[in-house]
Amino acid sequence: MTAELAIAGGTLVLPEGERPGTLLVRSGRIAGVLAPGEAFAAAETIDATGLHVLPGAIDIHAHVRSPAYPQRGTVESETGAAAAGGITTLFEMPITDPCCNSPDRVAARRDHFTGRAHVDFALYAAPAALTEAAFEALAGAGAVALKIFTTASPPGRGREFEGLAWPDPADRLRVLELAARVGLPVVVHAESEPLLARAGAAARALDPALAETHEAARPALAEALAVAEMLTLNVRAGARLHIAHVTSAQTLDVLRRFAGSSDFSAETCPHYLRYTVADVARAGTCARINPPVRGRADREALWQGLADGTLAHVTTDHAAFAPAEKAAHEGNFLTAPPGHPGLETLLPVMLDAVAGGRLTLAQASALLSANAAHRFGLPVKGRLVPGAAADIVVVDMQGETVVTEAGLLTAARAVARLVHGERFRGRVVRTLVGSATVWDGGRLARPLGAGRFVRPGME
Ligand SMILES: [Zn+2]
Repeated sequence: MTAELAIAGGTLVLPEGERPGTLLVRSGRIAGVLAPGEAFAAAETIDATGLHVLPGAIDIHAHVRSPAYPQRGTVESETGAAAAGGITTLFEMPITDPCCNSPDRVAARRDHFTGRAHVDFALYAAPAALTEAAFEALAGAGAVALKIFTTASPPGRGREFEGLAWPDPADRLRVLELAARVGLPVVVHAESEPLLARAGAAARALDPALAETHEAARPALAEALAVAEMLTLNVRAGARLHIAHVTSAQTLDVLRRFAGSSDFSAETCPHYLRYTVADVARAGTCARINPPVRGRADREALWQGLADGTLAHVTTDHAAFAPAEKAAHEGNFLTAPPGHPGLETLLPVMLDAVAGGRLTLAQASALLSANAAHRFGLPVKGRLVPGAAADIVVVDMQGETVVTEAGLLTAARAVARLVHGERFRGRVVRTLVGSATVWDGGRLARPLGAGRFVRPGME
């Protein structure tokens, strides 16, 4: 049978490891994996000689925020950035205005993204009502998981956080128990509210212009304690629990101590793996991210956590802001809006680490794709195997990604100060979603709107 598309001559990154070969694609699915020299017939052939062919990245933690805040970015701009970054499925967090906390709002967001997205997308929901019927309804609407915070709603952002902020552990136990009953995973932003309150008050005596002041206001202990609390609650509740953006050695220690106690997983992000508080100081308050980027020892510990499997996911936590929103707090690390763009640098940071010998391409690929698909119930995503979706990224490990403000596709390019001027070994040269090229290494190559809504269990 003739394939629609063949990707030939390259090195395939398969679940069992790297090997040279040809990938055949038919009807948006991978139809075959051939050894080099095996004959094939295809309507179109992409020459991948000298290149590596990987499953597209699945970013399980992104904040596009649409349809609210168009000044920060739109579905078009931010999923375009994802495509350029080799991300083929993006999980959108529920923080928007109003918060995505009901079946109707999940449906409305699904409809808003549909027809605008360059890549496939899944939607998180916030559990506004703690009843089994409400949780069943969110699952029925196709929410991929629930998101909660252990912290209170930030001042002035009540509508965005309605149903997200659960500082009382009794409420969080209820969330976990109900989620376990209906089978929805729970993703948690874990920082201890009382410890943040204490540390934040003490930090007001420090110089707000220093990046270290932000770190002092949100210490690693607050993260570690909140993670320990969530894992303790989950021993009782038995939910599928996922810890967002781990930043510290102390939290890794907690995760290891709880190993086997319940069904949990954890992620970290490129900014914690690549940078330290000194880099944040250089980049300025645009680079304020919660929880904070920490020191060298924590950064090394995170790489160790990836190597030993304590951390099984690397995610962007991409958060776009308009320059004016960041500029209003220039020089104040205690009040600047937290978050940094990351969709275009997730894969380059990991490719650079592969080039530097930190991990293999197959390990990086598992952290970016297969583990996410497995954890969040997407059986056809994340792996280059026959029958899987043809969501593919082709990378040039001899190439280089040079990041400039003008070259970024995110609408928040001006505030991506941590990565301006960066040079990463490795480059994304093509991204395909369901067999269609969405990024050809230089521009977005497909008309808008082929990104589809992804729900758990979808075959
Ligand atoms: Zn986030």
